[in-house]
Amino acid sequence: MGDIISIESGNMSGPTKNGVEYRINMCKHTPSCSYYQYHKGCPRILLVPVVHIEQVNWGEHPCTVKVVGFAAFFTEEYAGQGIENKVKGKFMRYVISAKGDENVSDSGLYTAKLCD
Ligand SMILES: [Zn+2]
Repeated sequence: MGDIISIESGNMSGPTKNGVEYRINMCKHTPSCSYYQYHKGCPRILLVPVVHIEQVNWGEHPCTVKVVGFAAFFTEEYAGQGIENKVKGKFMRYVISAKGDENVSDSGLYTAKLCD
């Protein structure tokens, strides 16, 4: 974490739609997972980077960002098309098995640590 990353502005609605629908369809749980009741590790739960915008270009679009953490997002649906598209869902409190960093702010994504 903490790396500066160059990003491309704009809206890639086709690949976003395909990716979101793929992840939603990958949930084979019965009943289908929801924000309120889900199976741990369900493909509908996305771990997304939380970024700080470092630089904007002449059009005021972000061009470099710094990853400052990660958050868990439950994907509910893809809606709209073209530049009017949306990914609908909710950020959630979620625990993963990974090494955490105590210096990042609370985004709702947690790791476990043994203490004596
Ligand atoms: Zn599921």
